Amino acid sequence: MTAAATPDLLDALVVGAGISGLSTAQGLRRAGLRVQVLEAEPRAGGVITSVARGGALYERGPNSALDTTPLIGEMVEALGLQGQMRFASEAAAKRYVVRGGALHALPMSPGAFLRTPLFSAGAKLGLLREPFVARGDPAREETIAAFVRRRLGPEFLDYAIDPFVAGIYAGDPEQISVQAAFPKLQALEQRWGSLIRGQILGGAERRRAKETAKNTAKSFSFAGGMQVLTDALAATVGPLALETRVTRIARGGDGVFTVDAQRAGEALRWRTRALVLATPADVTATLLREHAADAAAALQEIAYAPVATVASVYARADVAHPLDGFGCLVPRREGRRVLGVLFSSSMFEGRAAAGEVLLTSFIGGRRQPELPALDEAAIADIAWVEHQALLGAGAAPRWQVVTRWPRAIPQYTLGHLGRVARATAAAQALPGLFFVANWKGGVAVGDCIRNGQEGARAVAEWLGGTAR
Ligand SMILES: Cc1cc2nc3c(=O)[nH]c(=O)nc-3n(C[C@H](O)[C@H](O)[C@H](O)COP(=O)(O)OP(=O)(O)OC[C@H]3O[C@@H](n4cnc5c(N)ncnc54)[C@H](O)[C@@H]3O)c2cc1C
Repeated sequence: MTAAATPDLLDALVVGAGISGLSTAQGLRRAGLRVQVLEAEPRAGGVITSVARGGALYERGPNSALDTTPLIGEMVEALGLQGQMRFASEAAAKRYVVRGGALHALPMSPGAFLRTPLFSAGAKLGLLREPFVARGDPAREETIAAFVRRRLGPEFLDYAIDPFVAGIYAGDPEQISVQAAFPKLQALEQRWGSLIRGQILGGAERRRAKETAKNTAKSFSFAGGMQVLTDALAATVGPLALETRVTRIARGGDGVFTVDAQRAGEALRWRTRALVLATPADVTATLLREHAADAAAALQEIAYAPVATVASVYARADVAHPLDGFGCLVPRREGRRVLGVLFSSSMFEGRAAAGEVLLTSFIGGRRQPELPALDEAAIADIAWVEHQALLGAGAAPRWQVVTRWPRAIPQYTLGHLGRVARATAAAQALPGLFFVANWKGGVAVGDCIRNGQEGARAVAEWLGGTAR
């Protein structure tokens, strides 16, 4: 198919083969539609990349996902992957937070909460007043830091929420919007007048909605890593057009989209009735600029956090810590150079060779955006120094692999929902255009799957098809 020939008319074309685009394409295929996926890179999966090396299996991107919606189970079943799905081990239920340079398990019961040194007696007592704190004004946007300070006090911000926000968004809680990033938290406050009351009384509502709260959902991956999921999706919706970078989109008077792309210097063209952009915000902005300048400007304003991940393999005997958990998160106040370390080989079997352990460290984020720009040896060294201090690594790692993501995770900062509304207004001006990507509706893999499936339904409805 070249620019010279008139290409066949597709029902839908999806740009971007990350989990968002693949999940959308799968939903469209299941609805019996003619769909084509275009991907700039030589492989599908986007940031989801699992690599086997020397008896280990490490992830360059997400290490696991949370089973928050029944749509995940349905997708896994439709792909025939049930036998390969793995839930994190029981031991991984334990999550550590660093305080005073030492690891402390996050308390999982009221008794453990009373005993933990993670929070002072004053902070614990202060929780008793949470049910009596007045509701915030729902019309006023608030950062997650301000929200938590107001309801729970500064220590919970520093030692519970700050490391948690670093863990999910590699973000800064003083910038992230509660409304955009944690809408359920705000809904809990508005509905029940208290997070604690809502946590206790809201369970029945969540069960009815068949959704699982992120704090109780189980973490999962696959025997061969997260990429098993995107590989299987790609095989189902393929053949994909890989190494195919979309450079321009246009919509004709007949409502048909023309999509131009480049593959190895060759100009390619597709025609489609519906167009799904499952691309990062900056790429989407570039494609929209000539059609919807304000939407493009709004998308360009969405900041991304840079992150470097470091896979480090040690001899088991060389790490003093029992590694009996999911990993540790590091609050900003601790002044360290790592956001967190996952105990990857404790989470899932088969992640390290016998007698070895695999640790995955996250470095940079909005907290220290300069670190992922260092050279790889310097980044690997930071991980090793932090492992010595936090986990008692007594000898150098046997090997390390650094992956730099200059634009790892979109930041849902104050004003984010307004920016998304301005961007989606473009979709109304260009009927048949849809956005499904992690810059809207959640950054977690589970959110992207849900958004992809819901996006496919919306596209199918728009096309007058019948989504199953
Ligand atoms: C280091 C890291 C760790 C993470 N850890 C977790 C975790 O533990 N759990 C969790 O739930 N989530 C995690 N996330 C978040 C989650 O993985 C991502 O939000 C999600 O995978 C993004 O999927 P996506 O499809 O929206 O975007 P992407 O994966 O970025 O996919 C976009 C695709 O579009 C393609 N593309 C771009 N431009 C063009 C173009 N012009 N033409 C054609 N194609 C184009 C890209 O090549 C890419 O393949 C993590 C993310 C990162 C980076």
